[in-house]
Amino acid sequence: MPGTSMNKFIETLETLSYGLKPCKPINKIHFQNASRYYEYFMHQIDVKVKLKDNTECFSCKGIMLASHSDRNFKLYRLHSTLGINLSSLYGDVVIALDTEMEKHMELIDSKLPKSKSSETCGDSIFKAARSDAGKFKKLDETGIMMRSCRHGIVDKAGCTFLCGDVMCRYWDWAQKVASLFPEYKPMVDEMKPFLGRMHAKVHVWYCQILWVGHWMPEAALTLGEEQEQVFSKMSRYGSVTKHMGIAIFSTVNSFIILDRRDHLTSAILFWNEQKEKGIINQLLKRKERALKQIQISKNQLETDMEKHKFELLEFPILLGELRRAAEECKCT
Ligand SMILES: [Zn+2]
Ligand SMILES: [Zn+2]
Repeated sequence: MPGTSMNKFIETLETLSYGLKPCKPINKIHFQNASRYYEYFMHQIDVKVKLKDNTECFSCKGIMLASHSDRNFKLYRLHSTLGINLSSLYGDVVIALDTEMEKHMELIDSKLPKSKSSETCGDSIFKAARSDAGKFKKLDETGIMMRSCRHGIVDKAGCTFLCGDVMCRYWDWAQKVASLFPEYKPMVDEMKPFLGRMHAKVHVWYCQILWVGHWMPEAALTLGEEQEQVFSKMSRYGSVTKHMGIAIFSTVNSFIILDRRDHLTSAILFWNEQKEKGIINQLLKRKERALKQIQISKNQLETDMEKHKFELLEFPILLGELRRAAEECKCT
């Protein structure tokens, strides 16, 4: 619980107990520690007693159509934050361990040197992931990378469409990695790249033809921007995670320093649980919207075909021609 909220919460508890058993002042550090352990044990009950897994989407289990991966720079951690390096309660339940990440990056860097080329596309202001030493020199953790399914649940299972904001840049790199490391080849072969529909608008025209999910068969109404709604909530934790330690907790100058990893893990698990609770209503609404959209699109298609004097059979040929022209333009 962040400092100001916790102070108010403790103050309220102390006021409520006024006149009853004297239990004030409440020790902030003990309270903080107790509430963290309580949260963790509730998670253990979910996993071990209720056999619930809040790290996967029940609707997508085994058949995840699309997953949108994105990074968030607001959830950083400052170098100047002090903390005791104790082990995390949750470990890698949701967030990969730093040691694993470093090992993985070293492996990729050993065969594929870091690219110095531009990480943007067209007029895009959305940059692909890269480490910018100057910009991040005051940061110990520069942010977080997450991905979520079409239902907005943070998940790490395999999917058919991998959505991204700068997919045109990422996919070329992913293919290079797959050619150098056969163990990653299935990931490229089994997934299809999908450029998010909103982000695609600022890419060059041929990217919009080649990568945008709008043209992909079986993608249905997938937006490819699902992670944004998760970040709309997660970004709020940035105001506290930047001051948190790597450790469990410590006291420095009477401030309580918490563990960023555990704080974010418990926030993600809570988010997923809340999403799962509302999933039935959400699925029903989506079905209704999809059925309406089918009719709207059908009518639009008929009007356009009549206006431009086209037959349905000609569309795949036209799309093929458009894709060829886009490929040529990309290569020049
Ligand atoms: Zn899902
Ligand atoms: Zn592009």
